[in-house]
Amino acid sequence: MRKLNSFGLNSTARWFCEAFNIEELSEAVAFAKDRSLDVFVLGSGTNLILGTHIDGLVIKNNLRGRTFSENQLKASSGENWEELVRSCDLKGFQGLENLGLIPGTVGAAPIQNIGAYGVELSDRLKSVEALNLFTSETVTFSNTDCEFSYRDSKFKKEKEWCVTSITISSGNELVWEYPDVRIYLEKHNLEMSSGTIYRAVCVARKRKLPDLRRFPNVGSFFKNPVVTAEKYKILESQFPNIPGYVYRHGIKLSAAWLIDSLDLKGQSIGGVSISRQHALVIINHSAGTFDDLKKLSKLIKTRVHSAYDVSLEIEPEVLPEQPI
Ligand SMILES: Cc1cc2nc3c(=O)[nH]c(=O)nc-3n(C[C@H](O)[C@H](O)[C@H](O)COP(=O)(O)OP(=O)(O)OC[C@H]3O[C@@H](n4cnc5c(N)ncnc54)[C@H](O)[C@@H]3O)c2cc1C
Repeated sequence: MRKLNSFGLNSTARWFCEAFNIEELSEAVAFAKDRSLDVFVLGSGTNLILGTHIDGLVIKNNLRGRTFSENQLKASSGENWEELVRSCDLKGFQGLENLGLIPGTVGAAPIQNIGAYGVELSDRLKSVEALNLFTSETVTFSNTDCEFSYRDSKFKKEKEWCVTSITISSGNELVWEYPDVRIYLEKHNLEMSSGTIYRAVCVARKRKLPDLRRFPNVGSFFKNPVVTAEKYKILESQFPNIPGYVYRHGIKLSAAWLIDSLDLKGQSIGGVSISRQHALVIINHSAGTFDDLKKLSKLIKTRVHSAYDVSLEIEPEVLPEQPI
């Protein structure tokens, strides 16, 4: 599985197949059911930490197809997310521009409710179609049914669903207030549009994030912790520079700021290290192992907790499920 996860960990699976259409997907699910195997749906492996062995059937999702109509866009789950955003840009379909250059597949996007530059998928999504891996029924979930929250959804908790397609409505408002976007538009004297926001986002991401081809990683390793307003007041009185952004019913802290403030950039254990470019990114620089990563993750969590009394939670999924 090493080439199928962007962190590049060595891992094996008992069974593996690729599904190019719903029939192949259903066939694979039936195969697993006959043998009482656990099923795991794999996209591009950019949000996954793999343990040494997966004792079940891994299905690589390759369902393809996208259709634009006047008021909506429907895309199959094996489509590449960035290609979809680029095609929206070309067709002038407004709504996904802030989510440009996020690696991965369309089907994984609702799982953790991907988000960037002030927009989450849940702000744009109309519905999700999914196949139940136990009963083989196909269900359409409305946006509300998906129970979205910050990097979370119904599908992250209930593992029995394989997303087969998503639908996005048109007529989305533009979000440009995020400093990187606003400053880019002002600096280049550009009018605000879906296309210029998309370009601003791409430029900012290329500047800020380590190049995935050179530095294997899974993007943000920790979620930004959300604390109560009371807790934030206490932190602010002790650390006046601590950033905080209002998020739903609490205040979202910057996990990157917390880690950076402790001078942890560049810290290594075995073959893995915290990127010098971005404190929230852990890179596998030389044949790092699951154990190296576990130790580094623990070190960061412990240091942040003892300095700020804030618990960090990891963002990627760990397979097989285990604490890290
Ligand atoms: C450099 C980099 C930058 C990133 N930036 C961001 C960012 O800005 N914002 C953000 O939110 N994320 C970001 N990520 C994380 C990642 O890109 C997203 O989570 C992406 O949606 C993962 O897609 P994937 O196809 O690689 O999923 P995988 O890693 O293959 O799978 C992730 C999870 O989704 C499940 N899954 C995948 N496909 C399906 C399906 N069809 N049905 C049911 N379950 C499925 C898997 O079982 C697994 O649990 C970044 C990652 C990297 C490496």
